[in-house]
Amino acid sequence: MLKVGLIGCGMIGKEHAKRIKYKIQGADLVAVCDVFEKSARAAAELVGGDVKVYTDADQMIHDPDVDAVVVTTPGNFHKSPVLSAIAAGKPVFTEKPLTTTAADCKEIVDAEMASGKHLVQVGFMRRYDRGYNQVREMIRSGGFGKPMILKCTHRAESVADDYSTEMAVTDTAIHEINVLPWLIGDHEEWDEVQVMFPRQTKNAHEGLRDPQLMMMKTKSGVICMVEVNVNCGFGYDINCEVVCEDGVINLPCPSFPTTRKNFEVATAIEKNWILRFIDSYDVELQDWVDHVAQGTTGGSSAWDGYTAAVTADALVRSQTTGAVEKVACGETPEFYR
Ligand code: NAP
Repeated sequence: MLKVGLIGCGMIGKEHAKRIKYKIQGADLVAVCDVFEKSARAAAELVGGDVKVYTDADQMIHDPDVDAVVVTTPGNFHKSPVLSAIAAGKPVFTEKPLTTTAADCKEIVDAEMASGKHLVQVGFMRRYDRGYNQVREMIRSGGFGKPMILKCTHRAESVADDYSTEMAVTDTAIHEINVLPWLIGDHEEWDEVQVMFPRQTKNAHEGLRDPQLMMMKTKSGVICMVEVNVNCGFGYDINCEVVCEDGVINLPCPSFPTTRKNFEVATAIEKNWILRFIDSYDVELQDWVDHVAQGTTGGSSAWDGYTAAVTADALVRSQTTGAVEKVACGETPEFYR
Protein backbone atom coordinates (compact mmCIF):
# COMPACT_ATOMS: atom_id res chain seq x y z
CA MET A 1 0.00 0.00 0.00
CA LEU A 2 1.49 3.35 -1.10
CA LYS A 3 1.19 5.87 1.75
CA VAL A 4 0.55 9.29 0.20
CA GLY A 5 0.93 12.80 1.65
CA LEU A 6 -0.81 15.69 -0.14
CA ILE A 7 0.35 19.33 -0.12
CA GLY A 8 -2.13 22.16 -0.91
CA CYS A 9 -5.70 21.59 0.30
CA GLY A 10 -7.56 23.93 -2.07
CA MET A 11 -10.03 23.06 -4.80
CA ILE A 12 -8.25 20.24 -6.61
CA GLY A 13 -6.34 19.21 -3.46
CA LYS A 14 -9.58 18.27 -1.73
CA GLU A 15 -10.77 16.39 -4.84
CA HIS A 16 -7.51 14.39 -5.07
CA ALA A 17 -7.53 13.74 -1.30
CA LYS A 18 -10.96 12.08 -1.58
CA ARG A 19 -9.89 10.28 -4.74
CA ILE A 20 -6.77 8.78 -3.10
CA LYS A 21 -8.65 7.86 0.08
CA TYR A 22 -11.74 6.31 -1.50
CA LYS A 23 -11.17 5.47 -5.17
CA ILE A 24 -7.57 4.62 -5.97
CA GLN A 25 -6.46 1.01 -5.47
CA GLY A 26 -3.10 0.33 -3.82
CA ALA A 27 -2.81 3.75 -2.14
CA ASP A 28 -3.92 5.38 1.08
CA LEU A 29 -3.88 9.03 2.14
CA VAL A 30 -1.88 9.33 5.38
CA ALA A 31 -1.11 13.07 5.61
CA VAL A 32 -2.32 16.44 4.33
CA CYS A 33 -0.53 19.79 4.42
CA ASP A 34 -1.54 23.39 3.79
CA VAL A 35 0.07 26.67 4.86
CA PHE A 36 -3.37 27.53 6.17
CA GLU A 37 -4.02 25.03 8.99
CA LYS A 38 -7.79 25.41 8.72
CA SER A 39 -7.68 24.24 5.07
CA ALA A 40 -5.55 21.20 5.99
CA ARG A 41 -7.95 20.30 8.83
CA ALA A 42 -10.95 20.70 6.51
CA ALA A 43 -9.34 18.32 4.00
CA ALA A 44 -8.56 15.86 6.81
CA GLU A 45 -12.23 15.98 7.88
CA LEU A 46 -13.34 15.29 4.31
CA VAL A 47 -11.47 11.97 4.35
CA GLY A 48 -12.67 10.84 7.78
CA GLY A 49 -10.09 12.61 9.97
CA ASP A 50 -7.65 9.69 10.23
CA VAL A 51 -4.68 11.50 8.57
CA LYS A 52 -1.79 13.59 9.92
CA VAL A 53 -2.13 17.34 9.47
CA TYR A 54 0.88 19.52 8.57
CA THR A 55 1.44 23.20 7.81
CA ASP A 56 5.09 22.68 6.78
CA ALA A 57 5.54 20.84 3.47
CA ASP A 58 9.16 19.79 4.16
CA GLN A 59 8.22 18.18 7.47
CA MET A 60 5.47 16.18 5.80
CA ILE A 61 7.71 15.10 2.91
CA HIS A 62 10.33 13.82 5.37
CA ASP A 63 7.79 11.96 7.56
CA PRO A 64 8.88 8.29 7.37
CA ASP A 65 5.18 7.33 7.18
CA VAL A 66 4.89 9.16 3.84
CA ASP A 67 6.07 7.07 0.83
CA ALA A 68 4.99 9.42 -1.96
CA VAL A 69 3.83 13.02 -2.41
CA VAL A 70 1.02 14.76 -4.30
CA VAL A 71 1.46 18.52 -4.88
CA THR A 72 -1.70 20.59 -5.42
CA THR A 73 -0.50 24.05 -4.38
CA PRO A 74 -0.85 26.88 -6.95
CA GLY A 75 1.59 26.50 -9.87
CA ASN A 76 4.05 29.14 -8.58
CA PHE A 77 4.45 27.07 -5.37
CA HIS A 78 5.23 23.69 -7.02
CA LYS A 79 9.02 23.98 -7.32
CA SER A 80 10.00 23.80 -3.67
CA PRO A 81 7.95 20.69 -2.65
CA VAL A 82 8.86 18.87 -5.89
CA LEU A 83 12.60 19.51 -5.31
CA SER A 84 12.22 18.50 -1.69
CA ALA A 85 10.52 15.19 -2.66
CA ILE A 86 13.31 14.46 -5.17
CA ALA A 87 15.93 15.18 -2.48
CA ALA A 88 14.09 12.75 -0.16
CA GLY A 89 14.04 10.13 -2.96
CA LYS A 90 10.21 10.02 -2.89
CA PRO A 91 7.94 9.77 -5.97
CA VAL A 92 5.99 12.97 -6.54
CA PHE A 93 2.86 13.67 -8.58
CA THR A 94 2.46 17.39 -9.12
CA GLU A 95 -0.55 19.08 -10.62
CA LYS A 96 0.08 21.04 -13.81
CA PRO A 97 1.99 23.19 -14.58
CA LEU A 98 5.27 21.64 -13.38
CA THR A 99 6.16 25.25 -12.47
CA THR A 100 5.25 28.56 -14.08
CA THR A 101 8.66 29.27 -15.70
CA ALA A 102 11.02 27.21 -17.85
CA ALA A 103 14.00 28.15 -15.63
CA ASP A 104 12.31 26.64 -12.55
CA CYS A 105 11.30 23.51 -14.52
CA LYS A 106 14.92 23.09 -15.66
CA GLU A 107 16.05 23.01 -12.02
CA ILE A 108 13.62 20.15 -11.40
CA VAL A 109 14.74 18.28 -14.54
CA ASP A 110 18.40 18.64 -13.48
CA ALA A 111 17.66 17.49 -9.92
CA GLU A 112 15.71 14.45 -11.13
CA MET A 113 18.45 13.45 -13.57
CA ALA A 114 21.07 13.88 -10.83
CA SER A 115 19.02 11.58 -8.57
CA GLY A 116 19.20 8.90 -11.28
CA LYS A 117 15.56 7.91 -10.65
CA HIS A 118 12.31 8.74 -12.44
CA LEU A 119 10.36 10.34 -9.59
CA VAL A 120 8.26 13.15 -11.10
CA GLN A 121 4.91 12.85 -12.88
CA VAL A 122 3.04 16.00 -13.99
CA GLY A 123 -0.76 16.11 -13.83
CA PHE A 124 -1.61 16.71 -17.47
CA MET A 125 -4.73 14.56 -17.22
CA ARG A 126 -6.01 15.07 -20.76
CA ARG A 127 -3.64 12.32 -21.91
CA TYR A 128 -5.85 10.01 -19.82
CA ASP A 129 -9.16 11.32 -21.17
CA ARG A 130 -11.18 8.77 -23.11
CA GLY A 131 -12.20 11.27 -25.82
CA TYR A 132 -8.66 12.47 -26.52
CA ASN A 133 -7.49 8.83 -26.64
CA GLN A 134 -10.24 7.96 -29.15
CA VAL A 135 -9.24 10.87 -31.40
CA ARG A 136 -5.56 9.89 -31.08
CA GLU A 137 -6.31 6.30 -32.11
CA MET A 138 -8.26 7.52 -35.17
CA ILE A 139 -5.32 9.68 -36.24
CA ARG A 140 -2.90 6.80 -35.62
CA SER A 141 -5.04 4.45 -37.74
CA GLY A 142 -4.00 6.51 -40.79
CA GLY A 143 -7.54 6.42 -42.16
CA PHE A 144 -7.88 10.20 -42.06
CA GLY A 145 -4.48 11.04 -43.55
CA LYS A 146 -2.13 13.50 -41.89
CA PRO A 147 -3.48 16.19 -39.51
CA MET A 148 -3.02 19.74 -40.83
CA ILE A 149 -5.04 22.15 -38.65
CA LEU A 150 -6.38 21.93 -35.08
CA LYS A 151 -9.13 24.31 -33.90
CA CYS A 152 -9.56 24.28 -30.14
CA THR A 153 -11.57 26.16 -27.52
CA HIS A 154 -10.77 26.37 -23.82
CA ARG A 155 -13.72 28.23 -22.35
CA ALA A 156 -14.69 28.66 -18.72
CA GLU A 157 -17.75 30.25 -17.16
CA SER A 158 -15.67 32.76 -15.15
CA VAL A 159 -12.40 33.08 -13.20
CA ALA A 160 -11.30 34.41 -9.80
CA ASP A 161 -10.15 38.02 -9.43
CA ASP A 162 -6.48 36.98 -9.07
CA TYR A 163 -6.48 35.23 -12.49
CA SER A 164 -4.06 37.20 -14.70
CA THR A 165 -3.51 37.65 -18.44
CA GLU A 166 -0.37 35.46 -18.14
CA MET A 167 -2.33 32.67 -16.46
CA ALA A 168 -4.37 32.27 -19.64
CA VAL A 169 -1.13 30.66 -20.88
CA THR A 170 0.57 29.21 -17.79
CA ASP A 171 -2.55 27.82 -16.10
CA THR A 172 -5.11 27.37 -18.91
CA ALA A 173 -3.62 26.86 -22.41
CA ILE A 174 -0.82 24.81 -20.80
CA HIS A 175 -3.20 21.83 -21.21
CA GLU A 176 -3.38 22.31 -24.99
CA ILE A 177 0.38 22.97 -25.14
CA ASN A 178 0.96 19.55 -23.57
CA VAL A 179 -1.80 17.43 -25.11
CA LEU A 180 -1.92 18.51 -28.78
CA PRO A 181 1.52 17.24 -29.98
CA TRP A 182 0.78 13.94 -28.17
CA LEU A 183 -2.69 13.83 -29.77
CA ILE A 184 -1.37 14.09 -33.33
CA GLY A 185 1.66 11.86 -32.69
CA ASP A 186 4.15 14.70 -33.15
CA HIS A 187 6.87 14.05 -30.63
CA GLU A 188 8.87 17.13 -31.50
CA GLU A 189 8.21 20.21 -29.37
CA TRP A 190 6.44 23.28 -30.79
CA ASP A 191 8.32 25.42 -33.31
CA GLU A 192 6.73 28.89 -33.08
CA VAL A 193 3.81 30.54 -31.29
CA GLN A 194 1.89 33.81 -31.23
CA VAL A 195 -0.87 35.41 -29.14
CA MET A 196 -3.50 37.72 -30.63
CA PHE A 197 -6.00 39.76 -28.65
CA PRO A 198 -9.41 40.19 -30.30
CA ARG A 199 -12.01 42.68 -29.03
CA GLN A 200 -12.15 42.22 -25.23
CA THR A 201 -15.21 40.87 -23.40
CA LYS A 202 -17.14 43.15 -21.06
CA ASN A 203 -17.27 40.23 -18.58
CA ALA A 204 -13.55 40.15 -17.62
CA HIS A 205 -12.32 41.85 -14.44
CA GLU A 206 -10.15 44.96 -14.73
CA GLY A 207 -6.64 44.23 -15.99
CA LEU A 208 -7.43 40.82 -17.49
CA ARG A 209 -7.19 40.51 -21.27
CA ASP A 210 -9.82 38.00 -22.30
CA PRO A 211 -10.40 36.30 -24.73
CA GLN A 212 -7.04 35.45 -26.31
CA LEU A 213 -6.26 33.59 -29.52
CA MET A 214 -3.13 31.45 -29.36
CA MET A 215 -1.54 30.18 -32.56
CA MET A 216 1.00 27.38 -32.27
CA LYS A 217 2.88 25.63 -35.08
CA THR A 218 4.66 22.29 -34.84
CA LYS A 219 8.00 21.61 -36.55
CA SER A 220 6.09 19.39 -39.02
CA GLY A 221 3.87 22.37 -40.02
CA VAL A 222 0.60 21.57 -38.20
CA ILE A 223 -1.10 24.81 -37.08
CA CYS A 224 -3.22 24.88 -33.90
CA MET A 225 -5.54 27.73 -32.97
CA VAL A 226 -6.64 27.85 -29.33
CA GLU A 227 -9.37 30.23 -28.19
CA VAL A 228 -8.90 30.88 -24.47
CA ASN A 229 -12.10 32.53 -23.25
CA VAL A 230 -12.47 32.30 -19.50
CA ASN A 231 -15.48 34.55 -18.94
CA CYS A 232 -17.83 32.99 -21.48
CA GLY A 233 -20.61 32.73 -18.89
CA PHE A 234 -22.18 29.53 -20.21
CA GLY A 235 -20.03 26.67 -18.88
CA TYR A 236 -16.74 24.78 -19.19
CA ASP A 237 -16.48 24.17 -22.91
CA ILE A 238 -13.53 22.19 -24.26
CA ASN A 239 -13.47 21.47 -28.00
CA CYS A 240 -10.89 20.22 -30.44
CA GLU A 241 -11.42 19.75 -34.17
CA VAL A 242 -8.66 18.01 -36.10
CA VAL A 243 -8.67 18.77 -39.82
CA CYS A 244 -6.85 15.97 -41.64
CA GLU A 245 -6.08 15.33 -45.33
CA ASP A 246 -8.98 12.87 -45.76
CA GLY A 247 -11.52 13.96 -43.14
CA VAL A 248 -12.23 15.84 -39.91
CA ILE A 249 -12.32 14.43 -36.34
CA ASN A 250 -14.05 16.21 -33.43
CA LEU A 251 -13.25 15.53 -29.77
CA PRO A 252 -16.35 13.93 -28.21
CA CYS A 253 -17.98 15.94 -25.40
CA PRO A 254 -19.52 14.27 -22.33
CA SER A 255 -23.00 13.10 -23.30
CA PHE A 256 -26.14 14.66 -21.86
CA PRO A 257 -29.74 14.00 -22.79
CA THR A 258 -31.09 16.22 -25.56
CA THR A 259 -34.35 17.84 -24.52
CA ARG A 260 -37.16 19.40 -26.54
CA LYS A 261 -39.25 21.99 -24.74
CA ASN A 262 -40.62 25.47 -25.36
CA PHE A 263 -39.82 25.30 -29.09
CA GLU A 264 -36.16 24.56 -28.33
CA VAL A 265 -33.75 21.58 -28.66
CA ALA A 266 -31.17 21.74 -25.82
CA THR A 267 -28.12 19.81 -24.52
CA ALA A 268 -26.28 20.71 -21.29
CA ILE A 269 -22.61 21.74 -21.02
CA GLU A 270 -20.42 20.80 -18.03
CA LYS A 271 -20.21 23.47 -15.34
CA ASN A 272 -16.52 23.08 -14.50
CA TRP A 273 -13.32 21.03 -14.88
CA ILE A 274 -14.08 18.89 -11.81
CA LEU A 275 -16.99 17.26 -13.66
CA ARG A 276 -15.71 17.50 -17.25
CA PHE A 277 -12.54 15.50 -16.55
CA ILE A 278 -13.64 13.52 -13.48
CA ASP A 279 -12.86 10.12 -15.05
CA SER A 280 -9.50 11.30 -16.41
CA TYR A 281 -8.30 12.30 -12.91
CA ASP A 282 -9.28 8.85 -11.58
CA VAL A 283 -7.44 7.00 -14.36
CA GLU A 284 -4.44 9.35 -14.08
CA LEU A 285 -3.90 8.93 -10.33
CA GLN A 286 -4.44 5.15 -10.55
CA ASP A 287 -1.81 5.02 -13.32
CA TRP A 288 0.60 7.06 -11.17
CA VAL A 289 0.17 4.69 -8.21
CA ASP A 290 0.58 1.63 -10.48
CA HIS A 291 3.75 3.08 -12.00
CA VAL A 292 5.19 4.01 -8.60
CA ALA A 293 4.68 0.37 -7.54
CA GLN A 294 6.97 -0.56 -10.48
CA GLY A 295 9.51 2.14 -9.53
CA THR A 296 8.67 4.28 -12.60
CA THR A 297 6.39 7.15 -13.66
CA GLY A 298 3.64 7.33 -16.30
CA GLY A 299 1.86 10.17 -18.13
CA SER A 300 3.88 13.35 -18.52
CA SER A 301 7.46 13.55 -17.25
CA ALA A 302 9.39 16.48 -15.79
CA TRP A 303 10.85 16.96 -19.29
CA ASP A 304 7.28 17.26 -20.70
CA GLY A 305 6.62 19.83 -17.95
CA TYR A 306 9.78 21.69 -18.99
CA THR A 307 8.97 21.77 -22.74
CA ALA A 308 5.44 22.96 -21.92
CA ALA A 309 6.95 25.76 -19.81
CA VAL A 310 9.39 26.79 -22.59
CA THR A 311 6.39 27.05 -24.94
CA ALA A 312 4.40 28.94 -22.31
CA ASP A 313 7.30 31.40 -21.82
CA ALA A 314 7.28 32.08 -25.61
CA LEU A 315 3.51 32.66 -25.60
CA VAL A 316 3.81 35.02 -22.61
CA ARG A 317 6.52 36.95 -24.51
CA SER A 318 4.19 37.19 -27.49
CA GLN A 319 1.44 38.62 -25.26
CA THR A 320 3.71 41.68 -24.96
CA THR A 321 5.52 41.77 -28.31
CA GLY A 322 2.57 40.59 -30.44
CA ALA A 323 5.21 38.85 -32.57
CA VAL A 324 5.69 35.22 -33.60
CA GLU A 325 8.07 33.79 -30.98
CA LYS A 326 10.37 30.80 -31.46
CA VAL A 327 10.28 27.85 -29.04
CA ALA A 328 13.69 26.33 -28.28
CA CYS A 329 13.82 23.45 -25.80
CA GLY A 330 17.10 21.83 -26.82
CA GLU A 331 17.78 18.10 -27.19
CA THR A 332 15.71 15.67 -25.11
CA PRO A 333 18.17 14.15 -22.61
CA GLU A 334 18.76 10.38 -22.92
CA PHE A 335 17.23 10.02 -19.39
CA TYR A 336 13.79 11.08 -20.77
CA ARG A 337 13.83 9.22 -24.11
P1 NAP B 1 -6.29 26.62 -4.78
O1 NAP B 1 -7.76 26.36 -4.65
O2 NAP B 1 -5.76 27.99 -4.65
O3 NAP B 1 -5.56 25.66 -3.74
C1 NAP B 1 -4.20 25.72 -3.44
C2 NAP B 1 -4.02 25.45 -1.95
O4 NAP B 1 -2.62 25.35 -1.66
C3 NAP B 1 -4.58 26.56 -1.06
O5 NAP B 1 -5.30 25.98 0.02
C4 NAP B 1 -3.32 27.28 -0.60
O6 NAP B 1 -3.47 27.87 0.69
C5 NAP B 1 -2.34 26.13 -0.49
N1 NAP B 1 -0.94 26.53 -0.52
C6 NAP B 1 -0.36 27.59 -1.14
N2 NAP B 1 0.99 27.56 -0.93
C7 NAP B 1 1.25 26.49 -0.17
C8 NAP B 1 2.46 25.94 0.38
N3 NAP B 1 3.63 26.50 0.13
N4 NAP B 1 2.37 24.81 1.14
C9 NAP B 1 1.17 24.24 1.37
N5 NAP B 1 -0.01 24.73 0.89
C10 NAP B 1 0.02 25.83 0.12
O7 NAP B 1 -5.77 26.10 -6.21
P2 NAP B 1 -6.39 24.94 -7.13
O8 NAP B 1 -7.38 25.52 -8.06
O9 NAP B 1 -6.76 23.77 -6.31
O10 NAP B 1 -5.11 24.60 -8.03
C11 NAP B 1 -3.97 23.98 -7.48
C12 NAP B 1 -3.10 23.44 -8.62
O11 NAP B 1 -3.85 22.47 -9.35
C13 NAP B 1 -2.66 24.50 -9.63
O12 NAP B 1 -1.37 24.19 -10.09
C14 NAP B 1 -3.66 24.34 -10.77
O13 NAP B 1 -3.16 24.72 -12.03
C15 NAP B 1 -3.92 22.84 -10.71
N6 NAP B 1 -5.23 22.47 -11.26
C16 NAP B 1 -5.26 21.52 -12.21
C17 NAP B 1 -6.46 21.17 -12.79
C18 NAP B 1 -6.48 20.14 -13.88
O14 NAP B 1 -7.44 20.10 -14.62
N7 NAP B 1 -5.47 19.28 -13.96
C19 NAP B 1 -7.64 21.78 -12.36
C20 NAP B 1 -7.58 22.72 -11.34
C21 NAP B 1 -6.35 23.05 -10.78
P3 NAP B 1 -3.99 29.39 0.80
O15 NAP B 1 -5.34 29.43 0.14
O16 NAP B 1 -4.02 29.64 2.25
O17 NAP B 1 -2.99 30.21 0.05
